[in-house]
Amino acid sequence: MTMQSKVTAAFQSRFRRQPEAVVRAPGRANLLGGHTDYNDGYVLPVALDRAAWIAAAPTAGPDVHLHALDLNKSAAFSLERISPANGEWADYPCGVAWALQDAGLGLLGMEAVLTSSVPVGSGLSSSAAIEVAFAYTWQVLSGFELDRAKLALLCQRAENAYVGVNCGILDQMASALGAEGCARLLDCRTLESELVPLPRDVAIVVADTKVRRALASSEYNVRRAQCEEAVAILGEYLPGIRALRDVSSDDLERHKAHLSEIVYRRARHVVADNERVLQAAKALRAGDAATVGALMKACHISLRDDYEVSSPELDVLAEAAWEVEGCYGARLTGAGFGGCTVALVAPGALPDFETRVVAAYEAAFDRAPDIYACRSANGVERMV
Ligand code: ADP
Ligand code: MG
Repeated sequence: MTMQSKVTAAFQSRFRRQPEAVVRAPGRANLLGGHTDYNDGYVLPVALDRAAWIAAAPTAGPDVHLHALDLNKSAAFSLERISPANGEWADYPCGVAWALQDAGLGLLGMEAVLTSSVPVGSGLSSSAAIEVAFAYTWQVLSGFELDRAKLALLCQRAENAYVGVNCGILDQMASALGAEGCARLLDCRTLESELVPLPRDVAIVVADTKVRRALASSEYNVRRAQCEEAVAILGEYLPGIRALRDVSSDDLERHKAHLSEIVYRRARHVVADNERVLQAAKALRAGDAATVGALMKACHISLRDDYEVSSPELDVLAEAAWEVEGCYGARLTGAGFGGCTVALVAPGALPDFETRVVAAYEAAFDRAPDIYACRSANGVERMV
């Protein structure tokens, strides 16, 4: 059964009427640009064929009735009184309703069923898929017009200010603005973005270590502080810089003596990775997948050695991927320490990729990673 027929049938049996709209919003993988987002830099996400699906119809009053099919859990609230977050799945739709209304948009009440094929907590951003799907469903049912970047920003606001997760804008922009066959080059400072074509028929393969390290969030804050320190010191010699985004490799080398060794290496990663994102976009436009893959490998090595956010598990997954013929490149993605790698793989090489990466991981750690072979897909869209 397709996701569309599944969510439609569930809506019909639960609410005893036809849905007025069916919306899908994808998860995403970021090909390049690790820890560049909070440095006002560039990222290169792809929207995936794993997505959140909502079937919905409006109600007469302000009441919202939701059902999460995968959890078999329901939630109800009134648009006139949105209570604070309580750590449940419905925080995401509540937060989206709060952010949209706070921006002055008039929402209709609705009945809706949600289901998703984005794995939870595996680095594909299941939460952004849900936010963007709900925001767009409200837009469609309520009849307001909203620019897609603005929709992404309001979803990010829902996650930051209502749910209480300090995420950047990458995930929501990727889900709102993806296009099949393309990655999106996104400037995290201006939110300007453009599509760049992917090699034909390439698979985007995520391998999940299934390791979640508590260290990730404290170390994440340390890295952010080190980047800010680099900007504060370099700013004395490079007036006008606001973020590492404004620093070139040449600038950094010229002034490295003023930075501690560790802060210099952190900055070197960010500065180089911003340049790698732009080089990768150029290579994609030229149809040069091999160069993109080499940049992904360089990114992993830089995250491992200069930014120091890799882990033995991530290194084994990446190194095994690099050895597979038909794999253009692979790198750790997300904040690091645990989580996932992302690889670009020619479709013919998929079986070999999976066998060899799983075998290497099992040999090292005695358990299997999860492998998700995905395709690029459109950003949020109304299907019915
Ligand atoms: P991710 O990295 O996948 O975005 P998060 O922890 O940010 O992980 O978000 C996961 C949360 O999103 C889940 O705990 C749940 O509240 C919500 N969620 C994800 N998928 C679903 C789903 N299919 N149905 C209901 N809620 C979901
Ligand atoms: Mg998330």
